[in-house]
Amino acid sequence: MNLVILGPPASGKGTCSNYLKEKYNFNHISMGDLLRDYAKQDTPIAKMVNDTISSGKILDEDLTAKILFDYLQKENLFDNILLDGYPRGLKSVELMTKFLKIDKVIILEADFEVIKSRVLNRLSCSKCGKAFSKIDYHDSICDECGAELIRRSDDNIDVLNTRMREYRDLTIPVINYYDKLGLVYRIDTNKNFAEQLDKLMEMVK
Ligand SMILES: [Zn+2]
Repeated sequence: MNLVILGPPASGKGTCSNYLKEKYNFNHISMGDLLRDYAKQDTPIAKMVNDTISSGKILDEDLTAKILFDYLQKENLFDNILLDGYPRGLKSVELMTKFLKIDKVIILEADFEVIKSRVLNRLSCSKCGKAFSKIDYHDSICDECGAELIRRSDDNIDVLNTRMREYRDLTIPVINYYDKLGLVYRIDTNKNFAEQLDKLMEMVK
């Protein structure tokens, strides 16, 4: 079974993905992490990818689909995939349909004030990518791997506004598309999401 998890920035995609990965053994693929890794390479395309994602804009959808496809091939992944933060536009849906079948689409929902506070207080591990909130975590190193915590350059209000706009314009149509197919399951991440995810897993078993 393959799941997609979508939601606005800081709606809890990482937290929900980790929960599903640990409890139900999904192969978690975070499109954001995959692209950030890709962007570290020393090539003109990687540099372009880096500039685009750090401004909060959506990358060319053909290129994103190719990066994902290459990764799935390389890692030999076809099933039990939890795809986090992708597809973000209808063209990506069309491209992905050619190489990956999706069984359920989880939509995370949170209030904008909650999202804003999460983004502006977020720290990320420079090594493993784990996210922390300054509000309840007061250490400067990661409790998972001991690496230094950093503020991601894209965690600011301008990038957040751009991402919210991209989400409304491009991703909402994706959700409507999957909704018509009856695949959408909504989770309110202002509340306790674990229970809601367990309910979903009961349903799809
Ligand atoms: Zn870490």
